[in-house]
Amino acid sequence: MIDAAVSQIPFSPALIGEEEIAAVTEVLRSGWIALGPKTKELEAAIAGYVGARHGIALNSCTAALHLAHLASDIGPGDEVVTTPLTFCATLNTILHVGAKPVLADVDPLSLNLSAEGVEKVLTRKTKGVVPVHYAGNPVDMDPLMALARDKGLTVTDDAAHALGTFYKGRAVGSLADYTAFSFYATKNLATGEGGMLTTNHDEAADRLRVLSLHGMSRNAWKRYSGAGSWFYEVEEAGYKYNMADLAAALGLAQFARFEAMQETRRRYVSRYFEAFKDHPALELPPVADEARGDVHAWHLFMVRVRPEALTIDRDTFIEKLKELGVQTSVHFIPASYHPIYQRELGLKVGDFPVAEDSYRRMISLPLSPKLTMAQIEAVCERVLSICDQHRR
Ligand SMILES: *Cc1c(COP(=O)(O)O)cnc(C)c1O
Repeated sequence: MIDAAVSQIPFSPALIGEEEIAAVTEVLRSGWIALGPKTKELEAAIAGYVGARHGIALNSCTAALHLAHLASDIGPGDEVVTTPLTFCATLNTILHVGAKPVLADVDPLSLNLSAEGVEKVLTRKTKGVVPVHYAGNPVDMDPLMALARDKGLTVTDDAAHALGTFYKGRAVGSLADYTAFSFYATKNLATGEGGMLTTNHDEAADRLRVLSLHGMSRNAWKRYSGAGSWFYEVEEAGYKYNMADLAAALGLAQFARFEAMQETRRRYVSRYFEAFKDHPALELPPVADEARGDVHAWHLFMVRVRPEALTIDRDTFIEKLKELGVQTSVHFIPASYHPIYQRELGLKVGDFPVAEDSYRRMISLPLSPKLTMAQIEAVCERVLSICDQHRR
């Protein structure tokens, strides 16, 4: 029987409360809605939180990845190693600078890139590595950074899932050369559309700011706040990638409740683990190594069905959940399935056995601090009832 109060369970709704509405309203009333003081405040807040010297607020994580590759002088003739188990933006931004994405299959335990996996696909053309902290579970960065330093590679973290992820006590955002965060609507901190690039490279940070604002000379953004003068010079053909104060105000309100939101995620994840543990039809997601100071940000809670224990496949499982009002998703369709990468990179299904096996079995369940514990309980019940009804 389905409780009406929890009949429909959305996958990843943003938690927007009166604080967010008040913060955005304040900016609307201020008369300054584009790039300005709120954006600078959000940059300082996020950079401070992750322990990076520079934070550059942008309109997406995709923009952050693109700019990081430009700052790393990655271009035609270069190769960049990344994972097949990611969102298309990770690969597309490598293509945008004219370089070639080279994919290493993921580690079967963490579903992240490993130093050993990356090492196998290095060539003389390799210039960068883009690890993705899948679902918010930290990549084992020390061996990867050691390999990158040894080979002279730039490391850009795709941290779209990883605000709040820690590795050996250190926040993602200060571990790699560049780190790209996403504040897209479904992410752990949401500004609708938005992102941030963090780095400790001072000179690169200056150039990145210029590139994010048409290539206009240093501190050109001040002219937008009325503090600068009319004069500017265009140093490069840059991009229009900056964040707006409307989005930044939303981000600041979200940041004020970020720890509380993460705590709620952890509670819901514990409930999922408790409900599904030792179930023969469900394989639970990798967890972070807390003993060494790792923290999982739990952007996603992904289970993998075990086909040998069920009479239905993953696609049917998702359909059954949908019929019961549970919205789910799949993270991700591996790169080897997409026509563009088959065409451009010569990939084919079968190239990445670990990522592809996980893909065929995975379901991302609803997870958001906006959901209630009653909704999480309902997801547990409905998942378990489908398992029972279709037990092999
Ligand atoms: C969401 C996501 C992105 C893109 O983020 P945008 O802010 O929408 O550009 C990049 N990589 C991964 C792994 C993502 O999940």
